[in-house]
Amino acid sequence: MAQTKNSRSVAGNLTHPFLDEDGDTLREECGVFGAINADDAAATTALGLHALQHRGQEAAGITSFDGKDFISRRGLGQVAENFSSAEAIAELPGTMAAGHVRYSTTGGAGLRNVQPLYAELASGGFAVAHNGNISNAQMLRKELVSKGSIFQSTSDTEVIIHLVATSRYPTVADRLIDALRLVEGAYALVVMTPTGMIACRDPLGIRPLVMGKMGDSVLFASESVAFDIVGAEMIREVEPGEMIQVDFAGEIKSLHPFGNQRARPCIFEHVYFSRPDSFFAGQSVYEARKAIGAELAIESPCDVDLIVPVPDSGVPAAIGYAQQSGLPFELGIIRSHYVGRTFIQPSDSARHAGVKLKHNANRGLVAGKKIVLIDDSIVRGTTSLKIVEMMRDAGASEVHFRVASPPTAHSCFYGVNTPERSKLLAARMDLEPMREFIKADSLAFISIDGLYRAVGSKDRDNACPQFCDACFTGDYPTSLTDIAQTEQKSEELPFTDPPSSNTPPSKTKAA
Ligand code: SF4
Repeated sequence: MAQTKNSRSVAGNLTHPFLDEDGDTLREECGVFGAINADDAAATTALGLHALQHRGQEAAGITSFDGKDFISRRGLGQVAENFSSAEAIAELPGTMAAGHVRYSTTGGAGLRNVQPLYAELASGGFAVAHNGNISNAQMLRKELVSKGSIFQSTSDTEVIIHLVATSRYPTVADRLIDALRLVEGAYALVVMTPTGMIACRDPLGIRPLVMGKMGDSVLFASESVAFDIVGAEMIREVEPGEMIQVDFAGEIKSLHPFGNQRARPCIFEHVYFSRPDSFFAGQSVYEARKAIGAELAIESPCDVDLIVPVPDSGVPAAIGYAQQSGLPFELGIIRSHYVGRTFIQPSDSARHAGVKLKHNANRGLVAGKKIVLIDDSIVRGTTSLKIVEMMRDAGASEVHFRVASPPTAHSCFYGVNTPERSKLLAARMDLEPMREFIKADSLAFISIDGLYRAVGSKDRDNACPQFCDACFTGDYPTSLTDIAQTEQKSEELPFTDPPSSNTPPSKTKAA
């Protein structure tokens, strides 16, 4: 964003190859962190972002406020590539800071989209870090542009800034409420203004946001694990539709300006996105994953010698599956933790090599054995196929496959990178063709009701809380204005996905 007398930017890492690991996983697109009334706000924020690195690895940014100026350092690459040195942190003075990690799907996402985004408004500086995706951003953007707004980035988040800038309400908090009333979709926001920090979660609470404290500091983060890492205490989740304001005197105000709606947090946080050592929707993610595995074993037992997790994300579900079935849990696949992401090109041939670099069969264990592989989900199916083949090559006599989520048959429009629907295996095939595609001896997914049972409800119809489960059911909990408009223009129904407004292709290299 524009640099003015009250803001400055310091250069972060300006080049990064933007390479996808294998193109066959759903990816959370962002994580946010904020700290106010903290002696070392930027250092705390950098640590918090480290803990959220799994939510976005392609760019990281921190903006701090020193009582007079907003200072931003934003760069491409991981947190460690941008915020490891004492010098980098020293460039970000002040007792308030907000940070962001970002994942993007397309190769051209440049520095101009790296958050926090900053603008100088009539009310003063305004910095925002956003996790989620605004599903009417393109429509709003067109309207704003037609009225004279000039956008600096291609991020949907900038729409919020322009709506705040053009609101006629007197205070920045009221302007933000006014802006967010026009927005549909998912957002967990950490905002900085000259008078303090505002954290806000969309009315359905689709994306997570938690509040913590450390001495006199108040912290916000996408996941509770960030508080563990910085030594803070989690207070509670920011409630769906809640806006929390914290000022420099330590006063905390909570508002619910969007009325009461039934919350719909993303159930995929339990399945895959959140770290297992986080708490989400009132539950330990690790325990939820084990319960999902146990439910899967009840629904789809398998007469095998070994339960083998697809590392790392299949491990807790495989433990639950093994405990429920009474069969041995063994590490039949060993994952290398030293594979640099930059070794792997996002082409089909390199993706193939990528799986071999990352995963290797534990040949001495699986040879001659009947095994069941447990994974969190199947997206395109290409990785599942390679892992099944790897097990057969290592001598497994039978290779069965169990999946700790229902078939992923729909794209996500709430801030998660999903391949276009036509590339999702479950959108293209029924169960038996999917089994044939991945070459497993048998294949089963947990049912949607089984997933709800595992996270504490009787079934989906009687769920408390109800979750967003649209990537399994197609039941999207908000309007999808941009999609509806795209589909109207397209002849490619039913496999038309809108361009992700959060991560559009961009030829701009740096702001
Ligand atoms: Fe989560 Fe799926 Fe809903 Fe997206 S569509 S928010 S991944 S449950």
